[in-house]
Amino acid sequence: MKIIDNISELKKEIAQLQGSIGLVPTMGALHDGHKSLIDKAVSENENVVVSIFVNPIQFGANEDLDKYPRQLELDSKLCENAGVKIVFAPKVSEMYGENKNNLTLICPPYGVVDKLCGKSRPGHFDGVCSVVAKLFNLTKANKAYFGQKDAQQLFIIQKMVRDLNFDIEIVPCPIVREADNLALSSRNQYLTPSDRKDGLSISKALFNAKEMVERGIKQTRVIIDNSLKIMEELDVEYIEFVDKNTFEFQEEIDENTIMLIAARVKESNTRLIDNINL
Ligand code: AMP
Repeated sequence: MKIIDNISELKKEIAQLQGSIGLVPTMGALHDGHKSLIDKAVSENENVVVSIFVNPIQFGANEDLDKYPRQLELDSKLCENAGVKIVFAPKVSEMYGENKNNLTLICPPYGVVDKLCGKSRPGHFDGVCSVVAKLFNLTKANKAYFGQKDAQQLFIIQKMVRDLNFDIEIVPCPIVREADNLALSSRNQYLTPSDRKDGLSISKALFNAKEMVERGIKQTRVIIDNSLKIMEELDVEYIEFVDKNTFEFQEEIDENTIMLIAARVKESNTRLIDNINL
């Protein structure tokens, strides 16, 4: 496995690869959620590239860019053991030159970013799409693997690929959870023991909602009331229901509904997101 931090070397290596290329874009601090994407990519491609890049242009001014966990050595070991060919871990200046505020960006349309995470994190998805497009170009990947954990991100990337005719297949991968259903996230490293306990109420609300739907409850209002009770220890940012094919909001649940939650735990103020197919 090669660990590459510059674009010219990456291009040289990519040019020499034989067979299909699978790309797994990440911000590092790899966990079993990332590993599930990597394992799928390794099983479906002759060559797998994992990018590890804490992308500054997808962070807002008061977000956790500086404290985001960085552990390249550990991450590289995980990748090597999983059968990855190339870890691409560039510096910010390598990706964006000296002025990252003066870049050509890809901006998804207002209708998909004016809600959910896009609403509370203005510019976030411009940063995501721009870095992902760059990684698609640099790696010439045939397939790229994204987690359903970030459902809005997955929807937006799929739309970008369709709208701009990128020659790449996007492979959605299911959410990986701890034994107690907490969705794995690099940001879980921030959680105090009491935050972790409180944070569990997010997946509890989601799985509870699924049970309610199975019992025949279809009104989102009823499920929201119940979820707010379950998550009373959290600062809830949103509880929303969208059609997975359009990401339009729904008031009544059907077979296409995804329920999404974003909430902050109190002690560390960590923002957690999770979702479930109802
Ligand atoms: P990140 O490093 O947080 O940018 O995530 C990189 C990729 O891993 C994204 O496609 C995420 O959706 C995916 N991912 C993160 N956590 C999980 C999880 N618990 N289960 C499945 N995929 C995940």
